[in-house]
Amino acid sequence: MKSIRALTFDLDNTLWETDLTILKAEDAMAAHLRHLSPPAWMAEFGLDTFRAVRQKIVEEQPTIAHNLTVVRRKTLVRWFENQGATLSIAEELASEGFRIFYEERQKVEPYPDTVETLEILAKTYPLAAITNGNADLMAMPLGQYFQFSLQSQHFPKPKPDPVMFEEALKRLAIQPNQCLHIGDDIEHDVMGANRLGIRTVWFNTRAQVPEDDVPADHTITNLKQLLTILRSPD
Ligand SMILES: [Mg+2]
Repeated sequence: MKSIRALTFDLDNTLWETDLTILKAEDAMAAHLRHLSPPAWMAEFGLDTFRAVRQKIVEEQPTIAHNLTVVRRKTLVRWFENQGATLSIAEELASEGFRIFYEERQKVEPYPDTVETLEILAKTYPLAAITNGNADLMAMPLGQYFQFSLQSQHFPKPKPDPVMFEEALKRLAIQPNQCLHIGDDIEHDVMGANRLGIRTVWFNTRAQVPEDDVPADHTITNLKQLLTILRSPD
């Protein structure tokens, strides 16, 4: 693909498995909060009950749904208020809880081929990241291969909205058809990028059977296959 001048990557479930990391981070957050607050406030705290509160927050304020940091903080504040905390104490505990969650959430384990492939690609192409999550890529060792990372919390809308893709193209100073976007989410990554004319690779991370109508230019099941795709004719 000689016309490709830069690559953009989704992060969660594209460069690493996310779900386990999030679960671990939530456990660490809960353990930390149990130390800090009266036992009764955390007695019923569990993933299901936490998610029920989060669901309510998002329903009440759909415009913040893409800002996972704000959603998580507000969920914690609401939780502690529901337990009888004053707003200022609830906010203090929420900040502490989020701090631990965020720290743990960054401890991702890249897929086996991630580092090796990025290292090769970064020698030829500028790489950028576009994520709907709150992974802090540039603070991770993997960040060394990337020019920048865009997080949806800093934009009015998440993928598949064009706004983050457009910002990435602008910063990379390339046209849509000179960009290849790689991601695991058909709607957010493949369809979002496609709509702008960006070339797409669907990373079928979970080895789902590819559906005939996946609108991606290419489908891969491990990141290394990108190297072959990039060597192929346009
Ligand atoms: Mg993803």
